[in-house]
Amino acid sequence: MSTASVKCELEKYGLTPNRALGQNFLASDTAARAIAEAACENRCPVIEIGPGMGALTAELVKCAQRVAAIEIDRRMAEIIADRLPEVQLINEDALKADIPGLIAALGGRANIAANLPYYITTPLCMRFLSLGADGSIPAMTLMMQKEAAERFTAKPGDRVYGPLTVLAGYYYEVTKLMELSRDMYYPQPDVDSVVLKLTAKGAEKLFELEWLLNRAFAMRRKTLSNNLRAAGISDERLKSLLGACGIEGNIRAEKLTVAQFANIAREIETHGK
Ligand code: SAM
Repeated sequence: MSTASVKCELEKYGLTPNRALGQNFLASDTAARAIAEAACENRCPVIEIGPGMGALTAELVKCAQRVAAIEIDRRMAEIIADRLPEVQLINEDALKADIPGLIAALGGRANIAANLPYYITTPLCMRFLSLGADGSIPAMTLMMQKEAAERFTAKPGDRVYGPLTVLAGYYYEVTKLMELSRDMYYPQPDVDSVVLKLTAKGAEKLFELEWLLNRAFAMRRKTLSNNLRAAGISDERLKSLLGACGIEGNIRAEKLTVAQFANIAREIETHGK
């Protein structure tokens, strides 16, 4: 699909892109094919988030054994249902949809593929990472704005290093597949995009990791100890907890590595808060 053909398709259905829903449609068949192939590598069923008019969906149905798609916009959902009837279409908000139920119905494991709506990239990714912690999402192929992708690849000490970075880094191997310039979309967004592939490492599920990350990064300027104290951990317990992990209390969360966070979460899980 070229930019002209995306425009033409929209006109055919009497639609204008809804910017509030992050509707920047992919206008590159080559990119759509490459993303679909990456999303289908392990032969699992695929759940697409926000299929829009189906640029990526049409490629996914060629290589995935089953495709389900969650689209919030009723008009787009109708187009997909009409064009690609083999796709299991769910006309809902992906932040609220019963994704665990859908994965169970697809056999217990499913990959995620998406050209993500930029306005909810972070909460959606946090949701997938959280759901994928039990191994039910073996891979995610995600197109997102460049700035959002930097959070996945950040290193300790970087400005954007945070809960998303650590959660992704603990459960998934993160690889940058390609960069896409803004002129490959219609309407054209203000920034370029990146496609990331996340492949599950099979790491043991840490039940306290998300809690820990949310508390540790609650106030970025505060030390780890101060943030954990504010979360209700006593001074005595803080000393034993951080001591057991060989971590100084006056360090800030943004300086801790993924492995150090995992150690603290494991220690909390074993011996409590
Ligand atoms: N996949 C299409 C493509 O690549 O051309 C469209 C991608 S567009 C960036 C994002 C899509 O996500 C739109 O179709 C939009 O309606 C949909 N969307 C936005 N918010 C959503 C939500 N909360 N849940 C599900 N879909 C959503």
